[in-house]
Amino acid sequence: MSTILGIESTAHTFGVGVVKDGNVLSNVKDMYTNDTGGIIPHEAARHHKKVAEEVYLKALEEAKISESDIDAIAFSQGPGLHLCLLEGMRFAKALSLKLNKPVIPVNHCVAHLEVGRVTGAKDPILLYCSGANTQVIAYASGKYRIFGETLDTGVGNFIDSFARYAGIGFPGGPKIEELAKKSKTYVELPYTVKGMDVAFSGILTNLRQKLERKQVPLEDLAYSLQETVFAMLIETAERALAHVGKKELLLGGGVACNSRLQEMARLMCEERGAKCFVPPRSLLVDNGAMIGYLGEIMFKAKLGVKPKDLDEVDILPRQRTDEVEVKWRK
Ligand code: AMP
Ligand code: MG
Repeated sequence: MSTILGIESTAHTFGVGVVKDGNVLSNVKDMYTNDTGGIIPHEAARHHKKVAEEVYLKALEEAKISESDIDAIAFSQGPGLHLCLLEGMRFAKALSLKLNKPVIPVNHCVAHLEVGRVTGAKDPILLYCSGANTQVIAYASGKYRIFGETLDTGVGNFIDSFARYAGIGFPGGPKIEELAKKSKTYVELPYTVKGMDVAFSGILTNLRQKLERKQVPLEDLAYSLQETVFAMLIETAERALAHVGKKELLLGGGVACNSRLQEMARLMCEERGAKCFVPPRSLLVDNGAMIGYLGEIMFKAKLGVKPKDLDEVDILPRQRTDEVEVKWRK
């Protein structure tokens, strides 16, 4: 029996979750927002510092545990924004010293994949579609491998940029989804898949030109954006499934909240006899519970760092999924 606290702070969200024996007991988060439409790292870090204690106490309360029940403290080590990661690590280390319990440094992307186990997925391909990240990841031959990824921006940031040009506010994803529902008119857009990689900047330029010429209604652009870009993502995920012969697709990241993307994923899986897993929204977006979830798996593999060795632990803002030393899976 182990009770693990998970701390997430890679970007806009400060989250704390409590996980016990693979069950999520609580998952509390507070998200930094602003009016201009992008993350300002030092502001987001200040936000995290400000809300940390409150989010932590709420997570304990909702989990109905007290501080002394915690066996280890897992935190997002990377990838992410330097200043934001530092706040999460500082909080984790302070707690480690206070409670005399180990810390467990966790890779954020791998946590998105591993938390898929709560949905029943056992060895999936993860289609990870968030603001800053877009990757197709799976565990193969001793490592979490990146089969495909964006060659420029993350799909969420791409959608948000288009929404900003269109003047419909931030975050753009949900608004584009609503607009897209009002159209069935497809206008041709560039389709950029290279092997298992995708790219969005050419599509963004094309959309921007169409916006400026004002010849295509915004609903049609939103619809065409979704149809094109989600087809690209699903194509790469399908190629990865075929390549490694896996039978499970898992969605992760904020963009995976989109019901059209989920529908396309389900259809593709049905056609190839694979299973599609979509975690609840609270676990799709950045959250502390997924960090605690992977933290618990690592804790059981004795991968905690004792309070006396905390100086050896640092953030890894640019950590790549395939650089993670996987000592907990066979
Ligand atoms: P994350 O970085 O994983 O927290 O995801 C944030 C991104 O998800 C932002 O770029 C949002 O615009 C995007 N997003 C959130 N909801 C939706 C949606 N329903 N459709 C498309 N994108 C979405
Ligand atoms: Mg994420």
